[in-house]
Amino acid sequence: MRQFDPGTSDPKRADLKRISTRIVIGQGRQGMIAMGGGAPVVVQAMTDTETADVAATTAQVMALSDAGAEVVRLAIKDRPAAEAVPYIHEALGERGYHVPLVGDFHYNGHKLLAQAPDCAKTLSKYRINPGNVGLGCRRDQHFAAFIELACRHEKPVRIGVNGGSLDQLLLERAMGDNAKLPQPASAAEVLCQVAVASALGSAAEAEALGLPHDRIVISCKMSAVPDVIRVYRQLASRCDYPLHVGLTEAGMGLQGVVSSSAALAVLLQEGIGETIRISLTPRPGAPRTDEVAVACQLLQALGLREMQPRIISCPGCGRTNGQLFREMAAQVEHHVSQRLAQWRASYPGVARLQVAVMGCVVNGPGESRQADIGISLPGVGEHPAAPVFIEGKHVTTLHGQDLVKDFLTLLDSYVARRFSGAQQAAEEGATDQLREPADETHSAPARAVFP
Ligand code: SF4
Repeated sequence: MRQFDPGTSDPKRADLKRISTRIVIGQGRQGMIAMGGGAPVVVQAMTDTETADVAATTAQVMALSDAGAEVVRLAIKDRPAAEAVPYIHEALGERGYHVPLVGDFHYNGHKLLAQAPDCAKTLSKYRINPGNVGLGCRRDQHFAAFIELACRHEKPVRIGVNGGSLDQLLLERAMGDNAKLPQPASAAEVLCQVAVASALGSAAEAEALGLPHDRIVISCKMSAVPDVIRVYRQLASRCDYPLHVGLTEAGMGLQGVVSSSAALAVLLQEGIGETIRISLTPRPGAPRTDEVAVACQLLQALGLREMQPRIISCPGCGRTNGQLFREMAAQVEHHVSQRLAQWRASYPGVARLQVAVMGCVVNGPGESRQADIGISLPGVGEHPAAPVFIEGKHVTTLHGQDLVKDFLTLLDSYVARRFSGAQQAAEEGATDQLREPADETHSAPARAVFP
């Protein structure tokens, strides 16, 4: 009998109560990827290339991985897509990318996994949507065949319910029952109840078919923020499966970022969510990796993961030398993002780096001293000199046209010195106890499915 853990070993997350079952997904860039059971919240992403296009899909998985995705999902819609999976995996391995791949199946997953056994073996996890499996008795047959294949290949399965493709029979029955109540619930509430019932019912069915409890992940994605929060709170209180949290159809640009962050921040702060995906609609020409950047930033902002360096910059105001300040902040951010993949590979711990770019003397020197490395630009009417601080000490003052370039050179040499060699090793030893829980521990406890 599983029990709820009264707390967590992470002092920063002492408010979290839920500890889910731990599921091992596969080997990642920096070791084994697990979801739940106190593991760090895992960042997922999904490709939008034609999966059968091995070169394009491989390149996009690499880009997503470089951006911080730890698990990448591929749409497997037909046999060419299924048969491409082992080649994508092989191409990734040849390039040094070890990213667990998840197969996203709808309608025909039971057939494709049977027809393409190398795909079934290569994938680290399967996703099935219980609303898109088939109708009537075929639904049960297809679901059973899918789960049987997952059992045979010893793969975890995400039972991924989606508000836009709920099991219609369940929904019609629930709507009918609700209509007969003296005080019927709203349609949105019924939709959420059906989503939860579909997910938990399908998970119970999968276990009855032989899929072990510790190979099931659940998601119930809705498109409205309040519905997402409501559904996941219900799931968290009723089961201990790891929860894959996200909005579906979050939208484009700022709307998608704000909606996803609003919902996920509430849930993650409550200890709900063992893996996240930000489902952004990319603007034409925008990189697919934006969704990963948002996910990483969100986890970092909540203090759950240290995934990338933090650029601290003020908003600027009437005291700012606007053009120089904005250009410099943008260039520093670009510089760091461009080097991040290589820094991660060469300088373990670089995610802890804090760089300050400040707009004037009011808060500039103070914030710059508190960062690892910072620069305080001259505001309007100030002497045109920009003091640079490293680990709290004023090390130099920059002037003139090459100011930005000179600061970036200082930044690169600081990163190389700080995050490699003896200093890094000593620092790791000194800070492991404080740091590891933030990145190794999150969330909560175990549970059976509670009624
Ligand atoms: S640091 Fe200076 S420029 Fe930046 S917001 Fe504060 S007062 Fe304005």
